[in-house]
Amino acid sequence: MKTPQLRIIAILFTAAMFFVACKKETKSHEAKPDTVSRLEDKYLKALRILKYDTTGAHILGDGVVVEGDILLELSFLDQVLKDTLLPKDARHAFSSVLLFDNNTNITISLQDDLIQDAATVTALREAIFELNQISNCRLNFMYAGNDAGADIEVHRWFDPGYFALARYPRNGQPGPRIDVNIDLVNTNGTLRTPSQRKLTFVHELGHCVGLRHADWDNIGEAANGSDYDGFPAHAVYVPGTPAGVDPNSVMNSNIGTLGRSWTGFSEWDLYTLHYLFPLLSTSVFENYILGPSTIGGGQNFHFSGALYPCGAYSWRLLDMNDQLIQNFSDVDCGGLEWSYSLAPGQYKLQCYLWGEVPSTWVTKIVTRP
Ligand SMILES: [Zn+2]
Repeated sequence: MKTPQLRIIAILFTAAMFFVACKKETKSHEAKPDTVSRLEDKYLKALRILKYDTTGAHILGDGVVVEGDILLELSFLDQVLKDTLLPKDARHAFSSVLLFDNNTNITISLQDDLIQDAATVTALREAIFELNQISNCRLNFMYAGNDAGADIEVHRWFDPGYFALARYPRNGQPGPRIDVNIDLVNTNGTLRTPSQRKLTFVHELGHCVGLRHADWDNIGEAANGSDYDGFPAHAVYVPGTPAGVDPNSVMNSNIGTLGRSWTGFSEWDLYTLHYLFPLLSTSVFENYILGPSTIGGGQNFHFSGALYPCGAYSWRLLDMNDQLIQNFSDVDCGGLEWSYSLAPGQYKLQCYLWGEVPSTWVTKIVTRP
């Protein structure tokens, strides 16, 4: 008698355990739907290659959500895996024709009707900001509105084949032109996001200062390449960069077709920029002041084209004999909204940039009619 009873108890106990186990699993799924266990191993591997924290990563539609709010398309992760497995010796490289010493103070302007497109203005300004944040690097990009005399002019184009196209450096100067197709949508039909537009500008500005695609030899680009205008850009490996694809590089050729968003520079992007453009003892950061040349009696707004965080700026107003009229000591950001009761005449509005290297007071002559 005892044996059957024990068996029944044992069966009941086992069933109870199974029930508890199921319930626990159900409960954990309720608390955190689609946990990492639902992801295929290959996507986990891709996320680790991209150095994402896989905790809580889960499928959402055709993508994977990581770190709370980052959505990566499965097609992108497939491409990452494919690139990583390729045996070629992909390494960062730069053009054999580079910028001369301190030709690294670079103004950029928007031509055609691009300055009227708020998304383009924002994307370019944010790209400039990100590039300028790189410490120990003498690149100092400046937004110059629609100034036709800027070092790099961004033009609008309508070729459906490219999101954008840049030129490589020539004669020691940065590549003088970028073309952007602001109407082109992603390959999946969605509109380009602000983050994607920003990454595009970072990438193209990288070309303008001489960066080749990080995956150039992996995708069969010629070592003795040239740009759209035929200027040579022979690839030179960046010494010290490892062989293998750098999936996070802003300079990968496929950021547009994969619809990649801005996630920062890769370790080897920064390494490359530090290698090519270290600070020199002679480095000086210049600036470009935007805003009206003719000022009224009310509020005026001027802003710095060299984009840095607040705290990096000082502003002041002088007369034409360099006598100080006003120190705007309460403003340390790139935008200055100001008013001052001035007699008709010309004045010097000046901005100083507090960077890693010396700056100068940059002047904009303003006229009070
Ligand atoms: Zn490119």
